[in-house]
Amino acid sequence: MSSAAAAAEEKVEDRKETGTYEAGCHCGYIKFAVTLSPPLSEYKVLECNCSACTHLGYLLVYPKASDIVWHNDSRERCASYRFNTKQKDQMFCPKCGASLGIDFLDVFKDHVYGINARSFYGIDLGALNYRKGDGKNKVLPAQDLSGHIWDEEKQQLT
Ligand SMILES: [Zn+2]
Repeated sequence: MSSAAAAAEEKVEDRKETGTYEAGCHCGYIKFAVTLSPPLSEYKVLECNCSACTHLGYLLVYPKASDIVWHNDSRERCASYRFNTKQKDQMFCPKCGASLGIDFLDVFKDHVYGINARSFYGIDLGALNYRKGDGKNKVLPAQDLSGHIWDEEKQQLT
């Protein structure tokens, strides 16, 4: 093998594997493509026990905003819900109610999303690898917020 060919081969090996997946809501009003690294077969999907993940049905993967292609202005079509610190959008389809994930907006240095793996078309949830998240105890305020509103001023649930 020539040294150029060897270098080229090395580059291919260095390149991280990715997978691109079509996703969306149940009724088809919202559609997008997500590119993940590593691909879904090797990805550790977050299964968190916090009240939001429990009630909103999240099984999350975390693509960068630049790794999502929204079809037909689908991001603008999303309805959103905010709670607790109200710094991120929990995204839903306004027509069928499908729970699509989280837009972290300015929460982190890089703009990332938490996309609900349930929104991937043709997904086999039983075939995914999961990592357990303990958001219920580790994400402040570490309480079950379901059925309550967190009052930022009083720092308590109302
Ligand atoms: Zn829908």
